[in-house]
Amino acid sequence: MRPCCPQKVAICSIIFITHDLGVVAELCDRVVVLYGGLVMEEAGIDQIFEDPKHPYTLGLLASIPSVDQDKSRRLQPIPGSPPDMTKPPKGCPFAPRCQYARRICAEELPEMTQVAQGHRSRCWLLDPEAPAEQNPFKQETSKRHREEGAS
Ligand code: SF4
Repeated sequence: MRPCCPQKVAICSIIFITHDLGVVAELCDRVVVLYGGLVMEEAGIDQIFEDPKHPYTLGLLASIPSVDQDKSRRLQPIPGSPPDMTKPPKGCPFAPRCQYARRICAEELPEMTQVAQGHRSRCWLLDPEAPAEQNPFKQETSKRHREEGAS
């Protein structure tokens, strides 16, 4: 949390729990994105907004309304429902709602991957062996490879 009074900085932390990343942007320095009882992504506030590395985080960001947006444009909800935690899923808990899910996603839970200093995410798309096609986190890489191949 940022100090509310710059002259009096208390040495303390506050855990703020919300689905609203707009509120998080105003209040928090670090963000831990949870889904299905697991940490999906953990990063500084700027990394979460400028370079998110998890499909659930992408979905949360896409659902933030803006006062500038076209009023005819509908908000983008994340389709589907959270998992039934009385029967926890075997693989990634976000798999039934994830537009990028692959077969391995429903079978095995990915580990947390360090994507940058202070930035970790749990997603098979970050695996070095993951294909670049339909992969929002490797699109720049695949585009660069295509351009290099064309030159
Ligand atoms: S591991 Fe698979 S299902 Fe889970 S968020 Fe990543 S791509 Fe989607």
